[in-house]
Amino acid sequence: MKILITGGAGFIGSNLAEALLSRDDITYVRVLDDLSTGFRHNINDLIGHPKFEFVQGDIRDYDTCVKACKGMDIVSHQAALGSVPRSIKDPITTNAVNITGTLNVYTAAKEEGIKKVIFAASSSTYGDDKTIPKVENKIGNPLSPYAVTKYVSELYAKVFADLYDMNFIGLRYFNVFGPKQDPNGAYAAVIPLFMKAALEGKAPTINGDGSYSRDFTYIDNVVEANIQAMQIPVNDKAQNEIYNIAYGKRTTLNELWSYIKEVSKTAVAATHAKVRMGDVPHSLADISKARKLLGYGPLFDVKKGLFYSFEWYKEYYNRKIENC
Ligand code: NAD
Repeated sequence: MKILITGGAGFIGSNLAEALLSRDDITYVRVLDDLSTGFRHNINDLIGHPKFEFVQGDIRDYDTCVKACKGMDIVSHQAALGSVPRSIKDPITTNAVNITGTLNVYTAAKEEGIKKVIFAASSSTYGDDKTIPKVENKIGNPLSPYAVTKYVSELYAKVFADLYDMNFIGLRYFNVFGPKQDPNGAYAAVIPLFMKAALEGKAPTINGDGSYSRDFTYIDNVVEANIQAMQIPVNDKAQNEIYNIAYGKRTTLNELWSYIKEVSKTAVAATHAKVRMGDVPHSLADISKARKLLGYGPLFDVKKGLFYSFEWYKEYYNRKIENC
């Protein structure tokens, strides 16, 4: 199998690329990324590998997508501008990358005769639906431009599958964390920020009283789900479906900081700020559909994932300090 990963220099895409290159059934991994939120350092260790190619380019450019799809068997579409707050601040750019870019990728895959596309969907699609745990077929109204764009990527997948004899699998990720997730910038996610705080011995800021909870999911579980999705034969009943990919249990923000204190041996207490606008109180996935049809089962629980993540951030900051 030859695989194109869009967004392969990002957090999830680069972990996936690394895992794929260690497999015998994968003969080629091409990454297409414009390095807007991803980094060359995420794929430095892969550059030079005989089965690996990096193409720097923008999915908003259709011809770039066609070139990147040439000769590939599967497209793993991970490229997007993440972050709800970023999309609230700049909905036009989020729309251009996540909707036009996604349409370019799907169309290029069609033009190049690619039959399998696996794409990164998002738990944000559940919007204001209050059901806990979240089940794939029950969504609410989107609460941000980002959520709109991720839902549109699902809608286009369905239409393309119906019209063009292609197979799509959408993986709705829930709060993924782990090595290579960017701890810097205005839109950093909560776990990298907490890791940074732990390493600097500073108090992290918890928005709200800490009772809000998320289904935090370690990256290796997500990589495994992607690999399982790639193995599903075309025209199998598991194709053209959307799946929750998560750990399947929730962790409150207070619990999260106490686990990080444990793995980092930090004693600092968190400080609390106001709840962020648009934050839903709880998020939890029902993963039974992925278990049944994809054969997915999370291999790592939150604590183990935090342990491996902390080890990575420790090394990351040491290297940064050495390079100063
Ligand atoms: P990331 O920002 O680390 O990776 C996204 C990658 O896409 C980056 O390398 C970036 O440079 C690239 N990219 C952005 N715009 C591009 C463009 N115009 N052309 C080419 N490449 C472009 O984010 P991530 O956390 O790895 O997310 C990967 C995917 O998973 C995204 O589609 C995101 O919406 C989805 N997702 C992530 C989470 C999570 O918790 N991390 C949750 C739900 C969904």
